[in-house]
Amino acid sequence: MERQVAYYMVECERPVWKSLCEKFKSNVTGLGVPFFRQCEAVAEQEFVRFCETNNIAARRKVLLEYTGRGTLESAYYYLSVRDTGEYAQDFIELRCGGAGPGMCWNGAKQVRKVTVTDGMARMLDANEIVVKNYPIFPRTYVVTSRLVERMLSLHFRGIAFIPCLQQGSDYSEDERSFDFESDRLSAAAKYFQMVIRERAPGKPSIGNLLDASACPRCGSLNVVDGSTEDEFQSSDLSDADFQWVADISTTNKGPQHLMGQIAIISQRALRFFLDGRIRGLKQYLTAPPIKYRAAQIVDAH
Ligand SMILES: [Zn+2]
Repeated sequence: MERQVAYYMVECERPVWKSLCEKFKSNVTGLGVPFFRQCEAVAEQEFVRFCETNNIAARRKVLLEYTGRGTLESAYYYLSVRDTGEYAQDFIELRCGGAGPGMCWNGAKQVRKVTVTDGMARMLDANEIVVKNYPIFPRTYVVTSRLVERMLSLHFRGIAFIPCLQQGSDYSEDERSFDFESDRLSAAAKYFQMVIRERAPGKPSIGNLLDASACPRCGSLNVVDGSTEDEFQSSDLSDADFQWVADISTTNKGPQHLMGQIAIISQRALRFFLDGRIRGLKQYLTAPPIKYRAAQIVDAH
């Protein structure tokens, strides 16, 4: 079953906020985000009235959630995977070098294969798929050889599997290189990087760009706040089972490039992960709580 979840960004004084939280206790997350599921329209109307009466500025956005139960109704979903909790990224070369306090991954290039540490290996054995915390571009998913076999037999489109290196093993300089293909490594590897090759043909719209942190050098955006959540036209996505998005369109600031990469998967791919009870899949968001996020395609019928 899929449903809309509306959530609000509110600005108000502390005492009013306190009474809002008390009044709408079950609809405010621990992080202070008021949210209302589609079936809670009455509570939401009450919330809107409360905001009007108390002069609270409240901005509404909507996400589409698959609850994990019943039929999958959307064509595409966001891929959300447990992270490895480590930030090593010696397998890429950064190209921009901008971005004040953080760093900029725009144009970063993978030059070496990923090395799976013992800690990552333990995580992978339990979860089948994980994502490295860094880099945010290119997003680096790692999977077990078991999962690769099953995915290959289903001929998912848009991905390739590159064998990972294992900590403590010896490799030649060629073998370490990302582009170097080696039958020996492919046969021996217990873990593979799942590379999403397909780039989505279009860009979702976020309405007006209201706020963002941008790299001071190349201008690519990191944290983005639009007047709406991502809205796709059906032509923005290809029929691949895995694809990535790193561009958005905005009404007030034209097209914008994102520093990170968003992975979108087909309904068939999500079904595969769910039916296989793949533990590496994780809840998309906690505030508001969204189990699996569906891509909102505004011209779909
Ligand atoms: Zn940059």
